[in-house]
Formats: sequence, C-alpha cells, structure tokens
Amino acid sequence: MRRPLVAGNWKMHGSRDSVGTLLNGLMAQSVPETVDVAVCPTYVHLDQAVAACANSVIAVGAQDCWHAEPGAYTGDVAAVMLEELGCEWVILGHSERRSYHAEADALIAAKLQAAAAAGLKPIVCVGETLDQRESGEAEAVVARQLRGSLEGAVGTAGLVIAYEPVWAIGTGLTASPEQAQQMHAFIRKQLQDLGVDAQQTRILYGGSVKPGNAGELFAQDDIDGALVGGAALKAEDFNAIIAAA
Ligand code: PEP
Repeated sequence: MRRPLVAGNWKMHGSRDSVGTLLNGLMAQSVPETVDVAVCPTYVHLDQAVAACANSVIAVGAQDCWHAEPGAYTGDVAAVMLEELGCEWVILGHSERRSYHAEADALIAAKLQAAAAAGLKPIVCVGETLDQRESGEAEAVVARQLRGSLEGAVGTAGLVIAYEPVWAIGTGLTASPEQAQQMHAFIRKQLQDLGVDAQQTRILYGGSVKPGNAGELFAQDDIDGALVGGAALKAEDFNAIIAAA
C-alpha cells in the first residue's frame, strides 16, 4: 500500500505577505493521517515555509537544486544547502526547467544523485508534449526521460516520479483518469525494468489537478497522489485536494 503524497509546486509566485496568508490557510486545516503533504515555494520563501510548517506534518521542498557541491556556481543552490535549511523534498526535471533552462536528462540525473546524497527526497518529473502524444510517441518519450533521469540513481530512497503531460500543465486540460492510469502503469513497468522498487515507488499525476477532478484521478490504481501547480496557490483548493487523497 503506497501512502498518497500531495505536493504543491508554487513556481515563481508569491510575496512574503501572500505566502504568509497561504501558509496560514494550510495550517488552518488538519492533514489526514493517511496522506503526506509538501509545499514547494521559491528559494526565497523556503525559510518562511520551513518556519511556518515546523509544528505541522506539512513538509517543505525546493523546486530545483544544483548538482555540485557548494562552490563557484553563480545563481545556483546546492542540495546540501536546501537540506540544511530544513527542506525534505526537491522537485527535479520539471517541464518548465526542461524547456526554459534546456535541462537534459543527464543533468537531471546528476541533480538526483546530489539530492539523494544530501538526504533530500526527489520528485522527478517526466511527461510528453502535445505533439509527441499526437504522433504516438508519448510512451517512448517518457521511457527515455525515465531511463536518462534515473541513470545511476535507481536505488534512491524516497524516490517519487511525477507524470506531468506538458499539454496539461497550467492549461486547464487534464489527462482523463484512464489516460493518466495507462501512463502510470506504463511508468511502473519501466521502473521495474530499470531495477527500481516499482511497487513501493509513488507516481504522482500533475497537470491541472483541481478539487473537482482530484478524486477520480486518485481513484486510479497507479496514481499515488498529485503534483499541483495553480490550485496549490489557494489554500481552500489545496486543502480540498489533500482531503480527496
Ligand atoms: C505543475 O507545474 O507542476 C503543475 C502541475 O501545474 P498545474 O497544476 O497548474 O497544471
């Protein structure tokens, strides 16, 4: 039995004020004992989130990390720094990093190894574009991303995969529960072939998850929670998604 995880990816949103309001809204509702919850604010709001979540079961994660030890890497943040700050999770290989920062699978694999070595639990994102789905390449793309991103790190403790079809991120389009389940089952099989403990590995769905569609997604056998973008910015919506898990 895999414990559901609901993680909020706040992307580049928020001010000290709005983040404070959001965190207060999350603290106002108790998290069911059966669900793990994490919030992933920008780097500059991590300390605020860590302080606010200190007496709660909500964990804090970063949206990325760099793969090297602390050193001459202007603008980057090392995995060990995030761990020292109190982060438990780190999102790696989000499609926005893959597209706006040209992150390739090999770099994501290096980040994954650094994150694991620092004691962070990684959420590795994979997913196809609309063109790739329409041309029948979705599974091949996801299999390639998994193979490349997990290279050298298949035994990582606490590894989580997030299937996020790029065409469903921030668009209001959601993969149907059947489409998502089909890809999640495929991912689980790929993980097994790669030597990952597939039955224990949580596979989250991400892409326009909202209170209205979370329940039917979570009802699928291989969907173990969600990585939530837009709806994670409203405490009421995020709390409702947690309640559905
Ligand atoms: C995301 O970017 O990880 C995401 C799932 O975004 P949204 O929920 O807004 O589609």
